[in-house]
Amino acid sequence: MKKSHLQKFPDSEGFFGRFGGAYIPDVLKDEFERITKAYMKLRRSHDFLSELRRIRKHYQGRPTPVYHAKRLSEALGGAQIYLKREDLNHMGAHKLNHCMAEALLAKYMGKKKLIAETGAGQHGVALATAAAYFGLECEIHMGEVDIAKEHPNVVRMKILGAEVIPATHGLKTLKEAVDSAFESYVKQIDTALYAIGSVVGPHPFPMMVRDFQSVVGFEAKEQFMEMVGFLPDNVVACVGGGSNAMGIFSGFIDDEVELYAVEPLGKGTKLGEHAATLMYGDEGVIHGFNTIMLKDENGEPAPVHSIASGLDYPGVGPEQAYLKEIGRLNIAAITDEETIDAFFALSQYEGIIPALESAHAVAYAMKLAKEKPNDTILVNLSGRGDKDIDYVVENYGVREIKL
Ligand SMILES: *Cc1c(COP(=O)(O)O)cnc(C)c1O
Repeated sequence: MKKSHLQKFPDSEGFFGRFGGAYIPDVLKDEFERITKAYMKLRRSHDFLSELRRIRKHYQGRPTPVYHAKRLSEALGGAQIYLKREDLNHMGAHKLNHCMAEALLAKYMGKKKLIAETGAGQHGVALATAAAYFGLECEIHMGEVDIAKEHPNVVRMKILGAEVIPATHGLKTLKEAVDSAFESYVKQIDTALYAIGSVVGPHPFPMMVRDFQSVVGFEAKEQFMEMVGFLPDNVVACVGGGSNAMGIFSGFIDDEVELYAVEPLGKGTKLGEHAATLMYGDEGVIHGFNTIMLKDENGEPAPVHSIASGLDYPGVGPEQAYLKEIGRLNIAAITDEETIDAFFALSQYEGIIPALESAHAVAYAMKLAKEKPNDTILVNLSGRGDKDIDYVVENYGVREIKL
């Protein structure tokens, strides 16, 4: 029998074609091998999997529904748009899918603490939630500049019992938070697990996080088939690191379904104005793995911009770099302006306020709906927009959308 994509990739060294791997300092090598070994065993363990299923059902509220956005579809006069409602997860986004599983892995490995860095704070909040559930300690590193900018998420993490450690050197943003978190991790490597927040980083994280998110695609496939009677023609998801996208793509990757990765085009195509990595990046090693990345003139990760703080990452998961290379992935990009229109369109036509990240996927689906009027489009609605409402209204006002 032919092996499925998910069975074939990554290989035992964590490669998806040339992409992926583990380019890490020696102090981390043994521990990353231990994590890989533990996970390879647990991914087939009945106890681990049934505990995860129970958590998903009774704590997270899974399965999340698939919903036919009828009014939006009719107003556009094109394809039928469906939404996988990851915004209805506990805490309002898909991130909890992998954070709960990473915390469960930490518990099985006998760890006492979860460590991570966070940029805008969304990964930090999801991980702090998982730590509280399992009674694990939680240490979140965050740039001082981001701490000032993302006050509500800092407060949430503290309420959830996490320790928020400011990174005070350099530019005091995400890169410095990564340095600070790794420095602390190395000192406590026996008792802590570094929990990466997307399908990025060294092997085994791109594989593990994909596996943990694949529940989104498997559920959506079954739900869509039951609702509509056949597979969707197109599946659309926004891509920051790529976890929500790989989650939903996992359900359809071996099927005749077009997959669309939607990247943030921000304010324009100039370097520094966007974070459209797959579209404009080159091959390189970032944060311990080989992938496609946006580089500055020195080959370092370039500065990036997006209105959606969850999407402004200069790299992308190695599996998506591979899928692009073999021609399995369509790459699209959506500007800040188009995102704001989609944010209000979904709010006013469906009563669903999307996260600005997810609004990128909605914006692209709205374009695609006009191009392919006889198709069906399934969008991964990765999160809800409550976190974004003040920012949007202060900077853009309230837009009335007439389609
Ligand atoms: C963090 C985040 C994203 C981007 O992360 P991926 O790993 O690319 O999925 C997208 N949507 C929401 C709601 C997020 O919080």
